Amino acid sequence: MLIVSSDHHLQHHPELEFFEGELKRYHDTPERASIVLAALREAGVGPIIPPQDYGLTPILALHSPDYVDYLQHAYQRWVADGGIAAGVYPDSFPVRRMSRRPAKLSALAGFYAFDLTAIIAAGTWEAAYYAAQCALTAAHRVRDGAGAAFALCRPPGHHAHADLCGGYCFLNNAAIAANWLASAGSVSLKEDAALASHPPTQRIAMFDIDFHHGNGSQDLFYERSDVLFVSIHGDPDRQYPYYLGAATETGSGEGVGYTVNYPLDAGITDDRYLQVLRLAIERIARHQPEFLVVSLGVDTFAGDPFGDFQLTAAAYPRIGAEIAQLNLPTVFIMEGGYAIEQLGRNVAGVLIGFQTK
Ligand SMILES: [Zn+2]
Repeated sequence: MLIVSSDHHLQHHPELEFFEGELKRYHDTPERASIVLAALREAGVGPIIPPQDYGLTPILALHSPDYVDYLQHAYQRWVADGGIAAGVYPDSFPVRRMSRRPAKLSALAGFYAFDLTAIIAAGTWEAAYYAAQCALTAAHRVRDGAGAAFALCRPPGHHAHADLCGGYCFLNNAAIAANWLASAGSVSLKEDAALASHPPTQRIAMFDIDFHHGNGSQDLFYERSDVLFVSIHGDPDRQYPYYLGAATETGSGEGVGYTVNYPLDAGITDDRYLQVLRLAIERIARHQPEFLVVSLGVDTFAGDPFGDFQLTAAAYPRIGAEIAQLNLPTVFIMEGGYAIEQLGRNVAGVLIGFQTK
């Protein structure tokens, strides 16, 4: 399986985040991606290639121009305004009935964020931009017949909305790839200036198996029927991102029936998880997609500091093998996973299980 990876993520390394009432070491460390890459290399999963640069057009097809402009320039503007060099840290949020867009950078930081985890440090834009390019490169190769590809994206993306960062996410890599596959059809990425206005030509399924609900991905496609969004995750009544992810959320308008959530209890074990996974896969098969985009997080692992599922390492090859049963051209996009010691093995497990069926 083709692996797309870029060193640009190394430039994104915020040191601290506000977590459980304290300033703690930032969880999304550069070593996360380095560990996964080393494990994939060691396991011989496939050739590793750098991303192509497709520019901003496929990003702007999903994210709002003002938000993208903010991400590009926030750090420099923050520092120029006297902000600390460690990164942009929002402290005010326009929740309920407060919605005006302010001019001041420190206030924009809250305007474009829904939590305190998406810290914009000096190299964050570069990292986020190339993570999206990794996802697009993987999608492009799969569209051109590669069968399957894995984009080692960091920062992750599935929590990012059209104009909101959060959950360590800035640009929604998986959604950008899915949207490109859905709307670009046979149009080359190089010549698709009008991509945003292309009518949908392909049926896509997004399958989010990160421990956390993919609130950004759901929101981006909530009113669309061409991109099915299916997610298995910790019940938002007890787990982040709390404010989306219920089973009652099924889409709206044209998208009714094209969002499917499987919120699960704490303590889920391998066999029960695989049962739910098979249900989700049956739903995906009924959509008859041309392409599958998997948001691959392994924070479902028993040892993960964020999750409360109890999956063992043995679950991951089984998950990969079940997904392979769909027999679809598949783009895997790296999302979460914070049990550093087992992170590489678990990601490799899914991809190897997929390849060996
Ligand atoms: Zn997660």
